[in-house]
Amino acid sequence: MDTGLAPPAAQAAERLVDPFARAISYLRVSVTDRCDFRCVYCMSENMTFLPKAEILSLEELDRLCSAFVRMGVRKLRLTGGEPLVRRNVMSLVRNLGRHIEAGALDELTLTTNGSQLAKYAHELYQAGVRRINVSLDTLDPAKFTALTRWGKLDQVLDGLKAAKQAGLAVKINAVALKGGNDDEFDRLVAWSGDEGFDLVFIEVMPMGDIGGEARLDQYLPLSLVRANLAKNWTLDETDYRTGGPARYFTVRETGRRLGFITPLTHNFCESCNRVRLTCTGTLYMCLGQDDAADLRTPLRASSDDAALDDAIRSAIARKPKGHDFVIDRRHKAPAVARHMSVTGG
Ligand code: SAM
Ligand code: SF4
Repeated sequence: MDTGLAPPAAQAAERLVDPFARAISYLRVSVTDRCDFRCVYCMSENMTFLPKAEILSLEELDRLCSAFVRMGVRKLRLTGGEPLVRRNVMSLVRNLGRHIEAGALDELTLTTNGSQLAKYAHELYQAGVRRINVSLDTLDPAKFTALTRWGKLDQVLDGLKAAKQAGLAVKINAVALKGGNDDEFDRLVAWSGDEGFDLVFIEVMPMGDIGGEARLDQYLPLSLVRANLAKNWTLDETDYRTGGPARYFTVRETGRRLGFITPLTHNFCESCNRVRLTCTGTLYMCLGQDDAADLRTPLRASSDDAALDDAIRSAIARKPKGHDFVIDRRHKAPAVARHMSVTGG
């Protein structure tokens, strides 16, 4: 089988390293900007989505991902928008699974809202996916519909059940929202423990206009969340790291991991190993900065990958040292104009 990969020696020689000596080993790919939910912190109610013509085909996405794998990326995460609402997305997942089989990729995973998991969990496992992140901010059905605007909690819980049955390890992502789910954190910890899921709390990030001063009202520093949880749970420090922004603890009472993603109260950039690709082929070298590289033009210009490889390398050479997200009364505007659904978090 042609894996689309260079021989191991060439792979090693071509590894992507940025100007701050950080090896780029993790690519997140937003496969669509569309979603079947409208979470209040992520999107406005009336979103304008990209015209279909601008969006890379599944074949083009595969070619781009494969170029990164050839240059040393070991972990691929599909995200969105909602990745599982993209038509025929499973053909992309199955095709990318060949890199796992060939040993060129350590992990193929995805971040999903869970609405389509009942349908796809088994197929995901068959394609080589072993772990998924599922976003779930509340266990209260009415609150769930209020926060997601269009979502139904039962559908997600069914999806989670299917994921467990399929053998997928699940990590729950919960955005901490002042006045939204801040009365449920203990319940989420207990429930995740019972279900055998890891749990990660995320601070609201200032991305994209969601209307008015909503962001300031939603922001809840995780230092506070952690201090409150520590009253009821024993949080043991761990050195578990994913190279990303999460700091992990083990909850002694449940034995599960509990992570905190704190872009605003703790800067995590020094260990950043990742870049993000949108569904139009735009590469963002930093979640919190606007600088980006157009990979669609070199991709479409030639069926040969030379120009694409050059474009990827020059983009990585511009990866900035870090971001500067701030939410306070003097900084009400989003730090970056795009919504989280563009780059998928
Ligand atoms: N639709 C999928 C989902 O919800 O998991 C994947 C895309 S979603 C943009 C990825 C993650 O970003 C979700 O866990 C979501 O809660 C989080 N997110 C969205 N907007 C955010 C924001 N402004 N600040 C922090 N996290 C955000
Ligand atoms: Fe959709 Fe995920 Fe954004 Fe919610 S967080 S609107 S599920 S993309």
